[in-house]
Amino acid sequence: MSSQTLTIETEAAGSLAGEVAARSGQNLNACYQCRRCAAGCPVGDDTGVTPDRLIRMILLGEKEEAMNNLLVWKCVACYTCGTRCPNNIHTARITEALKHMIKEQHLEPMVPKVANFHSAFLTSTSHFGRVNEMEFMGIYEMKNAKNELTKGGGVKAIVDELKAQMGLGKAMMKLKRIHFSIDRIKGMSEIKRLFSTAKK
Ligand code: SF4
Ligand code: SF4
Repeated sequence: MSSQTLTIETEAAGSLAGEVAARSGQNLNACYQCRRCAAGCPVGDDTGVTPDRLIRMILLGEKEEAMNNLLVWKCVACYTCGTRCPNNIHTARITEALKHMIKEQHLEPMVPKVANFHSAFLTSTSHFGRVNEMEFMGIYEMKNAKNELTKGGGVKAIVDELKAQMGLGKAMMKLKRIHFSIDRIKGMSEIKRLFSTAKK
């Protein structure tokens, strides 16, 4: 009877784990796979990857799998995994680090709308110190439309997307969750300094 051998590319594993640990500030090596994080993750079932699995992929140097899975894009940063983890590992910071690595390496995001959402959110925050809903929606939809055109979805896909968002927009307006005024926070110089430091 043959047995399967687990092959670990030590160099690749070391460099991937080292980079993710440095960017996320999380001690991945402390994970002993108890899966307490998995039991509480609200998106684990939907994504097919739980926090413990993601960490194991990184430690084994499975770069392709670690950077191409739905948990990276659908993690809602609820921090349930981190609060349950006996070793204080916050997977939300790991998924965030992986998103940045994907962007820097010009890889195709698995869920482009999430990448567009992040980008629009940060752009608007950098201008006003908080999200301006109108600006945010404009940037977000322009990015989505560009994606549809690149993918060959055409005008119909863009119109369908806009219709769906308009429905959502109307519902949010009824709840007074969209503001038309432009509010800039007082400490804009601090915000600019934070963005500039993060870029470096
Ligand atoms: S709870 Fe912490 S130690 Fe346990 S599997 Fe999850 S990340 Fe690893
Ligand atoms: S922070 Fe992300 S990975 Fe952790 S439990 Fe919440 S959704 Fe799951």
